[in-house]
Amino acid sequence: MFENLALIIDFRFNYFALFSLSAIIINLTLLIWVQTKGARSEANNWFTVFLLALILWGASEFLDRLSASPQASLFWGYLGRPGWIFIPTLVFGFTLNFIGKEALLKNKLAQILIFGPPCLFLFLSWNTNLISNNHLSDIGRSPWGWNISPVADYFWVFIVWLEAFLIGSLALLTRFYFKTTDPIRKKQTLTTIVALLIPIVGGSLTDAFLPILGIEVLPVAILFTSALSIIMTYGIVKYSLFVISPKVTSDTIIDTMSEALLVIGPYHTIEQVNRSILSLLGFKESELLGKNVRWIIPDVESWDKFLKRVLVPLKRKGSVAGLEIDFKTKGGIRIPVSFSATSLLDKGHLLGIVGLARDIREVRKLINRITAERNKMGVTLGGIVDGVFAVDKGGRLVLFSPSMERQLEIDQDKVLGKGADEVIYMVEGENRLSILDLLPRERVAEDRILATKKNIKVVKRDGSPFYVDLTVSTIAENEDIDLGAIVTMHDVSQEHELEEMKLDFVSMAAHELRTPLTSIRGYLSVLQEEIRGKVSEEQLSFLSKAFISSTQLAGLVENLLSVSRIERGRMKVQKSSVDWVELVNEVVTNYLDQARQKGITLEFVQEKEKGVAALADKFRMGEVLSNLIGNALSYTGPGGKVTVTIEVKGGDLVTSVGDTGQGIPEEALSKLFTKFFRVSGVLEQGSKGTGLGLYISKAIVEMHSGRIWVKSTLGKGSTFSFSIPLKAEESSVGESKETLPAASGALVLAPRVKRSFVKNGKKAS
Ligand code: ADP
Repeated sequence: MFENLALIIDFRFNYFALFSLSAIIINLTLLIWVQTKGARSEANNWFTVFLLALILWGASEFLDRLSASPQASLFWGYLGRPGWIFIPTLVFGFTLNFIGKEALLKNKLAQILIFGPPCLFLFLSWNTNLISNNHLSDIGRSPWGWNISPVADYFWVFIVWLEAFLIGSLALLTRFYFKTTDPIRKKQTLTTIVALLIPIVGGSLTDAFLPILGIEVLPVAILFTSALSIIMTYGIVKYSLFVISPKVTSDTIIDTMSEALLVIGPYHTIEQVNRSILSLLGFKESELLGKNVRWIIPDVESWDKFLKRVLVPLKRKGSVAGLEIDFKTKGGIRIPVSFSATSLLDKGHLLGIVGLARDIREVRKLINRITAERNKMGVTLGGIVDGVFAVDKGGRLVLFSPSMERQLEIDQDKVLGKGADEVIYMVEGENRLSILDLLPRERVAEDRILATKKNIKVVKRDGSPFYVDLTVSTIAENEDIDLGAIVTMHDVSQEHELEEMKLDFVSMAAHELRTPLTSIRGYLSVLQEEIRGKVSEEQLSFLSKAFISSTQLAGLVENLLSVSRIERGRMKVQKSSVDWVELVNEVVTNYLDQARQKGITLEFVQEKEKGVAALADKFRMGEVLSNLIGNALSYTGPGGKVTVTIEVKGGDLVTSVGDTGQGIPEEALSKLFTKFFRVSGVLEQGSKGTGLGLYISKAIVEMHSGRIWVKSTLGKGSTFSFSIPLKAEESSVGESKETLPAASGALVLAPRVKRSFVKNGKKAS
């Protein structure tokens, strides 16, 4: 029926078409305004679609009226039908959103009831003659364009449905008008009702009822929709229609906030509540409004507090913040809340009290747990013997355990908040140890020990000292809680005293042994010469063995004396300019015989660094070199090779003794330079070492501000190296003050103690 396109777009001007055109323009303007300036709300979206439907309808009517033929009129009429058929549904959807009942639109059944009928009507109107009369022959000319007569048989069914929905929408809006307390919202609603009423009543009359009754009038429903738009525009200008009202905003905020809101009137009645307080206490709104606030306070005591702290003081201007009180739920359960309130005054007249309550059950639980933890820690701290203190990042004391009080004989009340250095006088070696030097410099990623310090002298206020081992730790959260470090002090005074006694004893014994040993060795040496040829070879060898053993014994005595000197900080070095190549050469030469006897090649590679001079104690450095070369020979089997090299690296003179011997197991490397440590290898079992040589060597090297280290591969050999600074300052006598070895458990038994004698200070087995 629409095959002839030319016929459809054959238009003839008609003045009545201008009605429709003006409706299109007005509705379109309103639509653009709502979309660009209105709030992004669902109600506004529904209204936009409603306007679109009106525009579609208007456009179809416009073209219908311009049509030159009945065919064209029918065609444009067809196109516009969705526009007017869907109007009731769109008005209804808008209304539901406008009055806040949009939840209904989510219901499946409601959706079918709202959208089903218009879809069915549209289908029937397009495909049958039940709702619309589609007979070309029934289309006749009329002054305003075209007119179809009679109307379809069941058009009235559509009209009944349409009126039902439109009247329903109006009824909902009217009810809302009476219910809402917001004056602006009230006016917005009234405007909307009036705006909708005009096209609904007028349009129904001209476009539905009169045609059904067979009375021909100008169908001006679309014109009425322009009136709707104009009234709505008035609403926009006057009452911010389509823009969210402040009251709606504040209502929404009040209802969605997590704090419980309570407005109490001057006579202690509950005037307003929000959703949070209802869900917190389990009441319905109607159960609380108008009730005395006493209703939600659990007991007399709490009521007293509420009266004294909130109701009475806030009668005059004022506020309270963070008051901890208990509320009572509908089920009678106490709920602790943090309550803040302000009085609401109007010209000095109390209108009420606005209170906000925050549920603090979780916080209470947390506080209880923290309190329990703190108490546990307190009891634990009280029970341990070690002193514990903690400082903040500025070094001020924040914790001082009972054992600290006992150790230092000071009350914690007197020291908390003071600088730790003011309270605890600590000395490491000869120097004052400040707590500030022990604090972490930057944020730490995890709980960890920052430092351990042994044998720290702590001086009490009366001047008497005691000795402690310190462990300085911190926790990952230290930055957040302004914690610097936690320090434990383990009292080692007794050990220290014992150690002193041992050192005294060893040094005394060694001194006492030294003199007789010297004469024994002297006499033996003389005797060996004197009786050579007068006694048998066997007797001579006994003498020789006695001499060797006494020499070893003298070596051990010397070593013990060295150790006690080192530990006491009394070992001295006398530095002078030493021709290093000459010194090394001398020591190597001393060992050539021994090397030859063992079948080991001993070599000093001296092409490099000829004529290097170092500022050193020649005698002590000779000891270090002897010890390293002696060890290399002892722990290398026949056929092996020992190489001594010197090298200038940066400002340091590095001397290395490398061997192709048995090597050292990795786990032993870290303990190698400690007192009495020996690896229990095959060669050690044959040799008569003491495990003191490397310890003494390290101390001597450190007294020269140097460093000693080892690289070793088990089974392949080891290289011991030490460095001393080339440009050492000119000082003839240096004391070993700053080089007190870290480990000072003097003569404490090390992993393996050898009590056998040292031959010639060195093992030459
Ligand atoms: P001593 O040699 O008297 O036992 P030292 O302190 O000189 O004591 O050496 C400690 C230990 O280190 C030795 O017992 C030995 O186990 C190991 N050691 C030292 N030098 C070497 C080396 N060159 N090769 C293998 N092991 C060595």
